[in-house]
Amino acid sequence: MNQFVILLGGNMGDRLGYLAEAKQRITQSCGSIAQESRVYESEAWGFESEHNFLNQAIVLQSQFDAFQLLQHLQAIEKSLGRQSKGGGYQSRTLDLDILFFGNHIIEKEELIIPHPRIATRKFTLLCVDELIPNFIHPVLQISIHQLLHDCNDPSKVWIYE
Ligand code: AMP
Repeated sequence: MNQFVILLGGNMGDRLGYLAEAKQRITQSCGSIAQESRVYESEAWGFESEHNFLNQAIVLQSQFDAFQLLQHLQAIEKSLGRQSKGGGYQSRTLDLDILFFGNHIIEKEELIIPHPRIATRKFTLLCVDELIPNFIHPVLQISIHQLLHDCNDPSKVWIYE
């Protein structure tokens, strides 16, 4: 069984509803969710938007390899209304990123694992720190908890009640 950490996020429409629906579809088609972080809210990162993001990380146990999982996650994003996956940051109903695949390192054009922007984003680190604080980032060789401590992302992130 393969273990993945996935970050879910979105800033359009019924944000909590999209997270719940995405988790249900992931459970139906990709495997079982072993752990879930709390949901965090943050201001849009890297672009101006009046819509705040909600983010949540999950640990997924799956029979899929990383490329199969990416295909399924992209199908779920599309089915939940994501318009495009162009370059740059934009508002979206649902974004699903594979953060980690055990200790594997993948560097292909369509799939980079560990996800390249984990260490620079406080909202990602806060979610992942709840699940696997002592996990050593296989490229940076630093624990998640230490990465969070060292992160100088000034953006505001708070727990969504
Ligand atoms: P984004 O719009 O930020 O969600 O980026 C989506 C694009 O990133 C897709 O075309 C994916 O093929 C690519 N991608 C590369 N690495 C990853 C990853 N670890 N998880 C999800 N998408 C990835």
